[in-house]
Amino acid sequence: MRRGAILVLSGPSGAGKSTIINAAADEIGEYYFSISTTTRAPRMGEKDGVDYFFVTKEVFEEDIKAGNFLEYAEVHGNYYGTSLKPVREALDQDKLVIFDIDIQGHRLVRAKMNDITTSAFITPPTLKELETRLRARCTDDEAVILRRIENAKEEIRALGEYDFTIINDTVDAAAEKFVIVAKAARLKQSTEDEVEFIRSWLNT
Ligand code: ADP
Ligand code: 5GP
Repeated sequence: MRRGAILVLSGPSGAGKSTIINAAADEIGEYYFSISTTTRAPRMGEKDGVDYFFVTKEVFEEDIKAGNFLEYAEVHGNYYGTSLKPVREALDQDKLVIFDIDIQGHRLVRAKMNDITTSAFITPPTLKELETRLRARCTDDEAVILRRIENAKEEIRALGEYDFTIINDTVDAAAEKFVIVAKAARLKQSTEDEVEFIRSWLNT
């Protein structure tokens, strides 16, 4: 009867979202990581179909018209979106679906699937530390880093919209908190399931 659940992770680019998911992956049980589609260029080491589906602006806009996205947004001047079909399939298989999406995407997912959604905002302890990590990652040029920092100053203001805040001070401590949040996210029941449970509880 139960269908899967959604865990939305947001936080500034460079917050450590990918690092934390990777560090916790073995401890959170089976999950489906939603691979987004984007029009931004791949970074060094990123693979098409693994990190993102990298497409042109034209292809992305056709997908928008065809209604293929559960949500999409423009972030740092590029399109990013979550395809609906694989998410539906994973949910139908009772999986925990993890999204790494921005604050606009979180709002859209909440609007559509609030009852099965849990969310966590991940951030380094300070803006200064974010800047240090973005530079240490060595994947973006100066203009891109500055744009990400400016964006982060706005994104942090949305922190209160999330169920949990995970401060990524050390990877181990943040991953430990993430495991707890992911396990709790799995327990979230859909409204439909609650109604069905009450009906059956009353009648058996
Ligand atoms: P995101 O996926 O949120 O954009 P990343 O996982 O790519 O962020 O992390 C950004 C950079 O910061 C990477 O170079 C990563 O190795 C580093 N990093 C992540 N967590 C920590 C931490 N707790 N301490 C120091 N560096 C970190
Ligand atoms: P990056 O370019 O660093 O990979 O990601 C930039 C920002 O886009 C991050 O905040 C990330 O969470 C967000 N993002 C990635 N995929 C999606 C998506 O499918 N939808 C939305 N709304 N945001 C996304």
